[in-house]
Amino acid sequence: MSDLHKITIHEAHKLLKEKKVSSVELTEAVLEHLHKVEGKVRACVTITDKQALEYAKAADKAIAAGNIKPLTGVPALIKDVICTKGIRTTCSSKMLENFVPPYDANVIEKLKADGYVIVGKTNMDEFAMGSSTENSAFFVTHNPWNLDCVPGGSSGGSAAATASDEAIYSLGSDTGGSIRQPAGLCGVVGLKPTYGRVSRYGLVAFASSLDQIGPITKDVTDSALIMNSISGYDKRDSTTMPCEVPDYTKALKSDIRNVRIGIPKEYFVEGMQPAVRKAVETAIQKLEELGAKVDRNVSLPYTEYALAAYYILAPSEASANLARYDGVKYGFSYRDTTNMWEAMEKTKQYGFGAEVKRRIMLGTYALSAGYYDAYYLKAQKVRTLIKRDFEKAFGQYDVLVTPVSPTTAFKIGEKVDDPVQMYLSDVCTLPINIAGVPAISIPAGFVDGLPVGMQIIGKHFSEEMLLRVAYAYEQATPWHTKKPTIA
Ligand code: GLN
Repeated sequence: MSDLHKITIHEAHKLLKEKKVSSVELTEAVLEHLHKVEGKVRACVTITDKQALEYAKAADKAIAAGNIKPLTGVPALIKDVICTKGIRTTCSSKMLENFVPPYDANVIEKLKADGYVIVGKTNMDEFAMGSSTENSAFFVTHNPWNLDCVPGGSSGGSAAATASDEAIYSLGSDTGGSIRQPAGLCGVVGLKPTYGRVSRYGLVAFASSLDQIGPITKDVTDSALIMNSISGYDKRDSTTMPCEVPDYTKALKSDIRNVRIGIPKEYFVEGMQPAVRKAVETAIQKLEELGAKVDRNVSLPYTEYALAAYYILAPSEASANLARYDGVKYGFSYRDTTNMWEAMEKTKQYGFGAEVKRRIMLGTYALSAGYYDAYYLKAQKVRTLIKRDFEKAFGQYDVLVTPVSPTTAFKIGEKVDDPVQMYLSDVCTLPINIAGVPAISIPAGFVDGLPVGMQIIGKHFSEEMLLRVAYAYEQATPWHTKKPTIA
């Protein structure tokens, strides 16, 4: 069968179940295509050809024994911030270039139990700090819709790979937008679950109170299937909630009549690309045509402080989390010194890239005596106000709809010298992490051949509602069926 790599999880499942194709055949087709386009897209840090075929053979055995689940035998790529036992996990950093985890992340244990097939690990901004994947210590990933453009970040490898069919789906992580923004810029579906829905055990920590793992998929149905697999309580992550995991596919109904949708005006920011605004407005009209009740007069007044608060909170947590990379226990170690302090200093000096150092310095400053009250404590108070904004809005609306990013994908190199410009590309996504609520990014059109994303935000643990609205929109529009030509 040609073009096997182009299919979704649910299409693959059907073929596997009906024994029209084996997992080995599917995996070989995906790998063949991956190797064909990877030289241009550059989405993968590690390609696991050998393991992929071993996993696929095991999946075929399970299927022959009548044991098939929705993910069994379906090839995936995993962001290189998620620990995979026996497979190098680098965080796209020199610091972890040769780090092979001795254990699996909880999400990997779950995918394994469901019979998944790993084809590799994806490129990212170093330690997930960035919005373009240009902060990778190894190489830049390209946007499959225009190879001169960035794929977004930090899960740029996962999003670009999914959009270019290098895998049937991928996992990303999202601290301030890192699943949704690249998904939006690459024209695929990205879901950041509620904080506490998915275990962070085995996710290399960036900012622990904001980080969540989530799926990047070709359509909304696949997003629900991954959520069914990776969600749930884990005793090794005390922030996971012990509440039941529903069958998310049950939410996939095309009926959104009378769903109350709020459009917060603060998300249509100054400097937004007019054509992106127009595309999102057209998408909102579509939701209205589908029977949703849309209120365009919603205000979340503390939104304007979210970016500033995030860039205190996230670096503060990062500065504590990254203190462990001292060259003693694991990772890169600078040995050519006469004393321990110098070794630690040099390890950090040569092991971390510029953006990671910038975050560590910002965070250390914000947490230091004399500045703590003025910066960190104040940012925490702003966090509470932002949360309340959302709580209030969700008293009246089932979901909020916004753009994912103020612009389409920008050119490689365009923002590297201006960190503030780069930080601004997450202005619509990071308030969601601050509040801990879930949000999904779905394709909502194109501007000059580049995808535009629409973000749907819900209250805590309302992933079903997000999937329902996303699915209804997807079924009524052609965007998810479009594929880039990688020339
Ligand atoms: N771009 C944001 C940052 O650099 C978000 C990153 C993320 O979500 N991991 O902090």
